[in-house]
Amino acid sequence: MSEAVQHDWQRRSLRAVWHPCTQMARAERVPPLPIARGEGPWLFDHQGRRYFDANSSWWVNLFGHADPALNDAIKHQLDTLPHVMLAGCTHEPAVRLAERLSARTRGVLGHLFFGSDGASAVEIALKQSFHSWRNRGQSDKREFVCLKNGYHGETIGALAVTDVAVFRDAYDPLLMRAHIVTSPDQRLGNEQQALDDLRTLLRERAAHIAAVIVEPLVQGAAGMVMHAPSYLRRLRQLCREFNVHLIADEIAVGCGRTGTFFAWEQTQPASADEWPDFVLLSKGITGGTLPLSLVLTTDEVYQAFWSEDVTRGFLHSHSYTGNPLACAAANAVLDRFEAGQLVSNQTQAALLTEAFAPLATHPAVAHLRQRGTILAFDVQAPVERFSERFHLAARDHELLIRPIGQTVYLMPPYLIDASTAGFLADAVQATLQEVLHAA
Ligand SMILES: *Cc1c(COP(=O)(O)O)cnc(C)c1O
Repeated sequence: MSEAVQHDWQRRSLRAVWHPCTQMARAERVPPLPIARGEGPWLFDHQGRRYFDANSSWWVNLFGHADPALNDAIKHQLDTLPHVMLAGCTHEPAVRLAERLSARTRGVLGHLFFGSDGASAVEIALKQSFHSWRNRGQSDKREFVCLKNGYHGETIGALAVTDVAVFRDAYDPLLMRAHIVTSPDQRLGNEQQALDDLRTLLRERAAHIAAVIVEPLVQGAAGMVMHAPSYLRRLRQLCREFNVHLIADEIAVGCGRTGTFFAWEQTQPASADEWPDFVLLSKGITGGTLPLSLVLTTDEVYQAFWSEDVTRGFLHSHSYTGNPLACAAANAVLDRFEAGQLVSNQTQAALLTEAFAPLATHPAVAHLRQRGTILAFDVQAPVERFSERFHLAARDHELLIRPIGQTVYLMPPYLIDASTAGFLADAVQATLQEVLHAA
């Protein structure tokens, strides 16, 4: 447990591992932090120093690291059936998971297709939407609409409906053309304009449009850009009016992040008509233990593929489709929600609100905002490479955090009590002071 061990892992990693979302030349200057183990919200390096995982390891972790209940569920499944293919076979963890998620939509989204990562769920939903229209004789409906600054993953299809320049620009020549419309942003108060913009497009192109894809309530990668449930309700109506599918990408905002299990529930859907045609989950669904993604869809979409003709079926698969270990972890996650997790999340969100309230008057802080356990603010000060500096400075305050541009955000595991909320607010404030002072 020494500095030498720590540096050895850094050196070997830089030589052999190509890190994600990283300019490797820059990684020489900001070497990756070797993590030896995790426990609760804490990550420990080889020198025994600890870091609070304030971004839940890219938004996947819900109940802390090495959670005993999740680990037990996976270990039990590991000794029973680690994997079997889901074509021609089925298994208890997949069936139970599908039934339980369907029940959470009151049966409206009663058909579940399994993917591996978030991006694969996006690919599946785009293909299912297009193919279902095609099977119904509307093969002209092959275009997609996404929101400005929206993020849906980085495979070629998902990237085509992603509007984040750093991820997208280099691959632009490879991508199918999607329509990008104004995104609602409570900082700008532009909900009406966003809807008008979409209406104009649909009026002109709806006969060619298969679906609109949206991140409900919070556009994560855009920098935690938030909008009201009223936008989603009106978006739903608009898509019905023009006969276009609506895909709710809840990969980041699902699983209780925004206060309800599905963010969409905050639109208070009263009938089947008021749910999306597709809901996507990944990230938190296994509590940050194993990769898994899910596409939930309606009977209407499902029935479009129902035929004696094989080619009208949805012939899509990944090798690990419906992996039993990942499904077992997801079932253990759902157990927590059935045991009252959302009530606890409400308390935790309120503790964060209270602890961070003083930041609202900080001269360099703008737009302090929150949805459930996602809290964010924008730093208005000319600091070069702000995100990198903040990330590095925070390490000295036992905080692992990665701002997006000038936006500092927290999306912690659901383990917030008064003392951790206070710790986070203090560590963020101290880091901010240091970064502003050094600039
Ligand atoms: C992370 C994310 C994805 C992509 O998921 P991966 O597992 O990284 O492929 C898609 N949509 C949203 C909203 C996300 O936050």
